Amino acid sequence: MSEKTLFEKIAAREIPATIVHEDEHCMAIKDISPQAPVHILVFPKKRISRVGQASEADAPLLGHLLLSAANIAREQKLGDGFRLVINNGPHGGETVPHLHVHLLGGRQLGWPPG
Ligand code: 5GP
Repeated sequence: MSEKTLFEKIAAREIPATIVHEDEHCMAIKDISPQAPVHILVFPKKRISRVGQASEADAPLLGHLLLSAANIAREQKLGDGFRLVINNGPHGGETVPHLHVHLLGGRQLGWPPG
């Protein structure tokens, strides 16, 4: 197994982060460079590099990530709306090669994204 990813190090408490949710399967932290008043990253503890590399066996885990993000959105009082984003690969803007869902909210978000 190659070196731990950034999010594996955060899950192992080797790198500090503001944790907003943790359960057996996933973790949610505040983004270090927030692009909206609420910007949270939800990621699986299991290493999956990107959604394009997830397998059928990961389907329950992928569902859990989305439902966790929706629960956190409720907790964060994002009743006016929010956006979930998954960047995949260089053209998608992925910079951390460990699957994560961005939860963005707290302001009017533009469309289309850049
Ligand atoms: P990506 O660009 O891969 O979709 O998203 C990676 C996200 O991780 C970026 O929004 C970036 O700001 C965030 N990030 C990068 N390094 C750290 C870190 O050390 N701690 C936290 N909390 N977020 C980070």
